[in-house]
Amino acid sequence: MTDHDVIVVGAGLAGLVATKELADAGKRVLLLDQEPEESLGGQAWWSFGGLFLIDSPEQRWMGVKDSKELAWQDWMGTAAFDREDDEDHWARQWAEAYVDFAAGEKREWLRQMGVKMFPVVGWAERGGYDAEGHGNSVPRFHITWGTGPGLVKPFEQSVRDHMKNGKVDYLPRHRVDELLMQDGVITGVEGSVLAPSSVGRGEESSRVVVDTFEYGAQAVMVTSGGIGANFDLIRETGQAVWEPPKAMISGSSAHVVDECLHLPNKPAGGSSNR
Ligand SMILES: Cc1cc2nc3c(=O)[nH]c(=O)nc-3n(C[C@H](O)[C@H](O)[C@H](O)COP(=O)(O)OP(=O)(O)OC[C@H]3O[C@@H](n4cnc5c(N)ncnc54)[C@H](O)[C@@H]3O)c2cc1C
Repeated sequence: MTDHDVIVVGAGLAGLVATKELADAGKRVLLLDQEPEESLGGQAWWSFGGLFLIDSPEQRWMGVKDSKELAWQDWMGTAAFDREDDEDHWARQWAEAYVDFAAGEKREWLRQMGVKMFPVVGWAERGGYDAEGHGNSVPRFHITWGTGPGLVKPFEQSVRDHMKNGKVDYLPRHRVDELLMQDGVITGVEGSVLAPSSVGRGEESSRVVVDTFEYGAQAVMVTSGGIGANFDLIRETGQAVWEPPKAMISGSSAHVVDECLHLPNKPAGGSSNR
């Protein structure tokens, strides 16, 4: 377990897609997740599989007139990106790249993976109903045939194929606790091996630690998901812009608490399973 080019932290859909793309490109990948293998695919497995696409054949078939320009206007209506000192720089870069992707290669790339779409486009995140305000001013919610599991399946299959051909090592029950840093560069991860767990998909698993690990790689990609089940963190991060409600409900699995984004970086050194 030493010669990986990239460590991917989190085996939800983002982690599976990243792992597949990296392994397709010939990289050796170590994929780590704190949950048992039963939960491979993360939240996306539970999702509706609704996909944001712009000016698709499905939209045109329904008579929906869409364009990249209109989608960007809608995006700006919500995001605004009006903070000073370039604070919105990366969020804006990401948004522009994503709108490009959704208006361009995304649909064909998914179709080549075997993802099919229900030929009726929904209108999620509808917002204010016009192109001047927030939200989608036209329907853009393309539902995957087979919903969430139908979306996860081809990516999971591809990662499993790469596990067989030796490009990917996947270690469930490996929770990353620290990103390791040397001379300003992330060089690896350190974490805890959690006790084996037989809980079902999405159920809360134990946090009993049975061992520790440390792995290094040229690059570390963090795909550790959101914070939907961590009400304290939601309140803490939300406070700047809204008054968090006293009572909340969550549609996410219990482990969607992001134990990764707020990790302190630690100088590399010491070793266990390196
Ligand atoms: C009911 C429901 C319906 C939804 N419907 C839609 C929809 O129709 N369309 C849409 O676009 N989105 C939808 N979503 C949202 C979408 O599913 C999620 O945004 C997406 O799946 C997140 O994927 P992810 O890989 O980023 O994160 P996750 O799926 O949360 O995966 C993150 C992974 O990282 C692991 N992890 C976290 N911390 C660590 C750590 N420290 N060490 C090791 N591993 C760690 C977790 O165990 C998890 O497996 C829905 C969500 C839900 C819950």
